Amino acid sequence: SSVAQVVETGNVYIYKCHANQYFFAIPVVVDSRYSFVAVGGHVYLEGSDIKDFYEGITGYGFDGEAVSKLRGEVKTIPPKSLFTFPSIVNNMAAPILRCVMSAAEKGAVDASAARLKGFYALEQVYRAIAPVLDREELYETILLKSSELVGAERGSLMILDNKNNLLSIKAVRGMDKSLADGLRVKVGEGISGAIAAKGVPVMVKDIEDEVPSWKNRPRYRTKSFISIPLKLESRVIGVINVSDKLSGGTFSEEDLHLLLSFANYASIAIERGAYYSMSEELKTLSMTDPLTGLFNRRYFRERLYEEVERVKRHDGRFSTFIIDIDNFKSFNDRYGHLAGDELLKGVSRAIKDAVRSMDVVARYGGEEFAVILPHTDKKDACVIAERMRKGVEDYRPPHNIFEDWPTISLGVAEFPADASHIDDLINKADRAMYLAKRMGKNRVVMYEA
Ligand code: GH3
Ligand code: MG
Ligand code: MG
Repeated sequence: SSVAQVVETGNVYIYKCHANQYFFAIPVVVDSRYSFVAVGGHVYLEGSDIKDFYEGITGYGFDGEAVSKLRGEVKTIPPKSLFTFPSIVNNMAAPILRCVMSAAEKGAVDASAARLKGFYALEQVYRAIAPVLDREELYETILLKSSELVGAERGSLMILDNKNNLLSIKAVRGMDKSLADGLRVKVGEGISGAIAAKGVPVMVKDIEDEVPSWKNRPRYRTKSFISIPLKLESRVIGVINVSDKLSGGTFSEEDLHLLLSFANYASIAIERGAYYSMSEELKTLSMTDPLTGLFNRRYFRERLYEEVERVKRHDGRFSTFIIDIDNFKSFNDRYGHLAGDELLKGVSRAIKDAVRSMDVVARYGGEEFAVILPHTDKKDACVIAERMRKGVEDYRPPHNIFEDWPTISLGVAEFPADASHIDDLINKADRAMYLAKRMGKNRVVMYEA
């Protein structure tokens, strides 16, 4: 549905999937005949996915030679660059393809030279913005680069506050910042307000010509300006205004296109900035349990769901443990609840130490834990479970104050051999764990039908 939406609206579409990760769909409209959508985002990649990818693209008419050439060119985007790389695709792909196509059609290379100059300018701008994470600095840089891109001496960048529908100035150039500070513009009022309301750009070559009632304000040297909305999907998040072209002339269509192209990217950079400054912490909080630092139950279930989907696609398997601390109530009674919490932290540490980096360890309840072991059948999982059991038994935290140390009981089940959906799987592992308790605790039991 996101692809359909992108094709229909021509807007970049960014959404958060269930695991709080970002995905994007980017329209690349070459011309009325050719357009495509680039889709991507945060994925848990593994070898078979890459294989699927190469096999998949041959289905789109790429021959073996083209695919093998592509292999060397494929880059994995680190999570930090999730917004910069696709944006570069977004902004560069269409112009470059257009340029190549028109050159091929007309047999003319000269005509595209001017455009190429534009691409290089844009690319410089992207590079300048990409590493900036500080919010104020980002606004300043975006405005500076916008102005440079079109040769404007003055400019302002305004950000929309959705709560009160007001635009406030975040960066200015060529005017007194103190005058601009505290200035608020209502959506719908004035030029910036109108652009925020309508979400469409305006380029004026001569304000007095085009709006006769508008007397050119003396502080502007020239009568030409560009105002464009900063948009995410179809939502306006701000406005960029540039005026006073350095050469004293008027802004051109080319300027407008460059600026629009950049604005697309700038909006994503601003969103990315918000994502980094606010959500990084929130994201960690929403995924982890504060006491133990392990993943929380909600995140665990999301990952379980992803594992199930993966197995359905690839015919693989994975195993799950449910772990419960033995006689924990008596530890609490003996040492008190706070000391009990310390014990919990120690046991978590020992559990975590026993698994591989690709395994997912979560605190599933009070003193219950759960683990996902991707690609592992329950026999192999039992070996790891036994190592974990032993690890907890032998573990002593630094500065240990406890005379004895708890043990754990573990129940192991496998998907899809033992269950057809996630609740079923948890249930089966739980049943195995209870059997371990009944058999005397401090042991591993594998679910058997
Ligand atoms: P069993 O061997 O059968 O598992 O016995 P148990 O005493 O561990 O019993 P059970 O698992 O039913 O009880 C869990 C106890 O763990 C209840 C509570 O005292 C303790 N507990 C649960 N969550 C926490 C927690 O967050 N902190 C502390 N300190 N204790 C907790
Ligand atoms: Mg329990
Ligand atoms: Mg218990």
